[in-house]
Amino acid sequence: MSAASSYASGVCEVPLLGDTIGENLDRTVRRLTDLIRCAACNRAAPMMSSSYTCMSTQGGSTCLAPASVYAPAVERYVVGRWLDRLTSADPEDPILVVVADRWGALTKPAETAEIEEARAALKAAEAQMERLLRDRRKGLYEGPAARFFEPAWQDVNRDMEAARKTLKATGGVTVDISFLMEPEMALEAWEAADTGMRRDLLRLAIVGLTVAKAKTTHDRARFDGDRRVKIRWATVEEV
Ligand SMILES: [Zn+2]
Repeated sequence: MSAASSYASGVCEVPLLGDTIGENLDRTVRRLTDLIRCAACNRAAPMMSSSYTCMSTQGGSTCLAPASVYAPAVERYVVGRWLDRLTSADPEDPILVVVADRWGALTKPAETAEIEEARAALKAAEAQMERLLRDRRKGLYEGPAARFFEPAWQDVNRDMEAARKTLKATGGVTVDISFLMEPEMALEAWEAADTGMRRDLLRLAIVGLTVAKAKTTHDRARFDGDRRVKIRWATVEEV
């Protein structure tokens, strides 16, 4: 069993999330608040008492199966899944691209912003190039209009070249997320992080999650994350 799996299953001796509910309720409870929703009605499920609970229970709305889940149980499960997802990811797994991008934005915001700007400029130049070619095919640059094509084509090529240059120059900004891909190191990084950083770490890979109401006595007696929690992982489209 990997360190991450042990963590997820609670076998691991590591203290739960470093700061347990008993130590400091406030710091612990907000970790998942903006991520977690009720599976039945998709309303937010903020922390109430020591459980994440469907908003409908606050009155004013109805939910057919309002979820409520003990915070430490679901947090332990989500952190375990997060560790497993990253440490068992294939090097080609697209989620690593997302995580690297987000980690870069977190740790090197200025460089990342410059790269993003250059990428956007390159994309715009490519689109403009396609448009020019399409217009020419349609005959828009025939006859007297022909003289307008060449300068427009040169302009867009210049833009493209400039964006490529910037990308090449900033290409030296490397984002190393290998520490998140190796179980022991990932676990260490998690444990060393403060609450704010833990929130950020989870959000590198997790977009949101839903939790379902406990349906059976067994569910109520023992939290089964695999049955009750659905995690929405970040995808490349969301970068
Ligand atoms: Zn609900």
